[in-house]
Amino acid sequence: MKLYEYNAFELSEMLRKREISSVELTASVLDRADEVDGKVNAYLKTDRELSLKSAENADKLIASGEAKSRLAGIPVGIKDNISTAGILTTCASKMLENYVPVFNATVIEKLNAAGAVITGKLNMDEFAMGSSTENSFFKTTKNPFDLTRVPGGSSGGSAAAVSCGEAVIALGSDTGGSIRQPASLCGVVGLKPTYGSVSRYGLVAFASSLDQIGPFGRCVKDVALLQDEIQGHDKMDATSAARSYPSLYDSLSGDVAGLKIGIPSEYYGEGVKPEVAEAVMNCVSELEKRGAKAVPISLPSTKYALSAYYIIACAEASSNLARFDGVKYGYRAKDCDGLIDMYEKTRSEGFGREVKRRIMLGTFVLSSGYFDAYYKKAKLLQKRIAKEFEDAFKTVDVIVTPTSPSEAFKIGDKVSDPLEMYKADICTVTVNIAGLPAVSVPCGYSEAGLPYGMQIIGRKFDEKTVLNLAYAHETAFGGFRRPEI
Ligand code: GLN
Repeated sequence: MKLYEYNAFELSEMLRKREISSVELTASVLDRADEVDGKVNAYLKTDRELSLKSAENADKLIASGEAKSRLAGIPVGIKDNISTAGILTTCASKMLENYVPVFNATVIEKLNAAGAVITGKLNMDEFAMGSSTENSFFKTTKNPFDLTRVPGGSSGGSAAAVSCGEAVIALGSDTGGSIRQPASLCGVVGLKPTYGSVSRYGLVAFASSLDQIGPFGRCVKDVALLQDEIQGHDKMDATSAARSYPSLYDSLSGDVAGLKIGIPSEYYGEGVKPEVAEAVMNCVSELEKRGAKAVPISLPSTKYALSAYYIIACAEASSNLARFDGVKYGYRAKDCDGLIDMYEKTRSEGFGREVKRRIMLGTFVLSSGYFDAYYKKAKLLQKRIAKEFEDAFKTVDVIVTPTSPSEAFKIGDKVSDPLEMYKADICTVTVNIAGLPAVSVPCGYSEAGLPYGMQIIGRKFDEKTVLNLAYAHETAFGGFRRPEI
């Protein structure tokens, strides 16, 4: 077995016992990227020299006995909307093609302090808007299980890199499903943490009330390891929750006896492929054999969730993206006739089609004549959806659904039909709307060997129960299946 194929928790032990060095490990991961990234297109940027230098420092830290974190020396890939000081952060947009932040996101500061090694910046849909990475200005990432298919999105680069060994673990961001859906399509584990548990400081904002940074790994333990490192209160983020964050890694027991699993009928019917629903239910039956109990429930407002999500997300995006005007950041159009012309040309040329569509939609739903008809209604629906979850969690401990309604679709299949693309998020957006934690774990494979994902949703700040059930499932179902690439 090559070093890049091991899980982070195993590598962490090997590093600590000095059986391997971080330099060797980082080189193995970057060699793997050299080998396959020409086909997969997961990375927008790597810098071997910089990564090896930080691996050398990690080795020194471990040798000195001062490495406190389990992530010391572990290579981590970063989605390209997370600010890295001195390293390009493009959000896969022409607008930020040459943008180099002068500060680190809090999560990057935390990884640096832990002695983790950053392998590079990963591809995504432009400004995290999309479900396939086809909205990247630079290139489309391919699904490692089938290069003619999408890896999901918007964190498609992160999911694909972890799946084919170009990163051991990675960070993504999730506003409506962008960690869980690509994790599902690439056969890896991805956690969208509770809103407020991971600092958003330095995450380029898409829809601030829904955005959360979260971890990807090839197993539940690795996701817990990375979440342990990035969670916690941060005074730089006004929505960050001040509370204690016990180790999730240390709490994984796999004991699910007596746990009540809610099965909401709305997530298993229309729009969801029967094979996917069946795969999820087979796994639930296995969990029942281990002492959990499935309970049918109903979340009736689910049918409005996509509409509410796209109104709220676009409204916030239209406001957040107003800062890209050619003055403060990134791209500026040439040959302009005055200030207004410069704004218009810069934004017309700098943003891609989907981003412009959302800015227009968002501006429309916030405009005085339509505010009550759209935005206000969407906010009311948000309350209703959150309340339905709250009520459900009075009788069940977790809720299990499919993550994505189908396996990975073909590149090009949905680009010309935005509504079809939006439906890829049908099972994930409610979780962001309600601010809950949810993980996606592999739960089956299509006849062609393409992964299906199961979503486990929990109460606010109850990542512990969510990940523990995921861990029990992983033990029963079997671990990560490596794509042949
Ligand atoms: N696919 C969804 C969208 O396009 C979710 C994006 C995300 O979570 N960043 O909005």
